[in-house]
Amino acid sequence: MNDFRYRMAKFFNGRTGVDALGRTVTWVALILMLLTMITHSSIPYLLAMVCLIYSIWRMLSKNYQKRYYENAKFLEKTAGIRRHFSGLQYKFRGFVARTKENYRLRKIYAYFKCPSCKQKLRAPKGRGKIQVTCSKCHTVFIKKV
Ligand SMILES: [Zn+2]
Repeated sequence: MNDFRYRMAKFFNGRTGVDALGRTVTWVALILMLLTMITHSSIPYLLAMVCLIYSIWRMLSKNYQKRYYENAKFLEKTAGIRRHFSGLQYKFRGFVARTKENYRLRKIYAYFKCPSCKQKLRAPKGRGKIQVTCSKCHTVFIKKV
């Protein structure tokens, strides 16, 4: 296994290897493959093959500087899109964190509305019938939690 790794390292030495552009092209190829399976069309299949061959060719290319330049150009052109995506990723993580927190709180608290002003209120669960004073309009009512 180590011998294999060593040989791989030696093989890739002086070659471009996997960079951001190569990774993106590989992903595009995978998506196109998926499209091929869904649509049964030969166009995405051919495009996927082109992408795969291109990414492998890039990976093995010995013209490292030229590939490096291409990758830099690619990163520069996609900076806006990548920023947008990382923004989405950030939002998505926030959404997941909030959902988890809500779920945790819902196990601890009972949520209900004030009968007179509809203000959202909460109280710790499992206390039976409690007297609630609305934080907004100060209406007092009985709630089972
Ligand atoms: Zn109220």
